[in-house]
Amino acid sequence: MKINLNRFRVTAPGKFKLSAHPANYTARMKSKEDAKADLEANVKSMAEMQDMMYAHDKWGLLILFQAMDAAGKDGAIKHVMSGVNPQGTQVFSFKVPSAEELDHDYLWRYTKALPERGRIGIFNRSYYEEVLVVKVHNLLEAEKLPDPVLKDDIWKNRYAQIRNFEKYLNDNGIKVLKFFLNVSKDEQKRRFLERIDNPAKNWKFSSSDLKERGYWDQYQKAYEEAIANTSTKYAPWHIIPADKKWFARLVISEIITEKLKELKVHYPVISDEHRQNLAGYKEALMAEE
Ligand code: AMP
Ligand code: MG
Repeated sequence: MKINLNRFRVTAPGKFKLSAHPANYTARMKSKEDAKADLEANVKSMAEMQDMMYAHDKWGLLILFQAMDAAGKDGAIKHVMSGVNPQGTQVFSFKVPSAEELDHDYLWRYTKALPERGRIGIFNRSYYEEVLVVKVHNLLEAEKLPDPVLKDDIWKNRYAQIRNFEKYLNDNGIKVLKFFLNVSKDEQKRRFLERIDNPAKNWKFSSSDLKERGYWDQYQKAYEEAIANTSTKYAPWHIIPADKKWFARLVISEIITEKLKELKVHYPVISDEHRQNLAGYKEALMAEE
């Protein structure tokens, strides 16, 4: 089934409202089974294109995931990237910053983790935390910024810095794909309860999850504002309905496949000289005793 991917893309950021994006949308598909064949086909073509991208060695692709807890970031990364050669991908998960990281400008730890050419880099959380959790909990104090930087327009400045950063990456051949996994508050509660009831999932639940849930409205507001201010032509946000994990995974795989196709990666073209040399090497090998 063909899904219209444009509906998930934020193309009119000035009018962006999270409430216009239902978390339970499934394009009239009913179950995991309806998505299976397309997801598998996408996983296969992503693997093929990633292999060429690695050989081509010019483009880089940064895919970042942001979401409330239990929205399914880890599972989406695991399933959607399951077919690609681990050599061609890198996954980084960003947690509370260390003392060393806090001793630098806020983009430092993220720039160190950017994908090399030929690779897909995945950020499980990203520099967007710097205008989300840092804003919701007012963590600027820990970032040791000098007074003149700590002005009222600091968030506006950060949105502009992030837009510029992504423009810089885009213009240097590192494409940026941004996914917000949009889970509803009810579905988060259901998933938390499952994590508590299912011993195999107990490790996934921590007391901070419940504490953060208490800030749901503040987070939604911070996300809405961040997305509205950082959706650009070169790096638009994608709002992925995440109440049904299988649908989220299908849409993400569709969007990544579409992006890789756009890059038109190919295996390097072999020069005539190299081709002639290969014939010589073959002869030498065949002449071995
Ligand atoms: P998890 O992804 O569930 O393992 O949790 C990682 C935690 O680190 C989340 O609560 C994030 O909000 C937090 N975190 C990530 N980046 C930052 C940051 N720059 N400043 C403060 N907390 C962060
Ligand atoms: Mg967590």
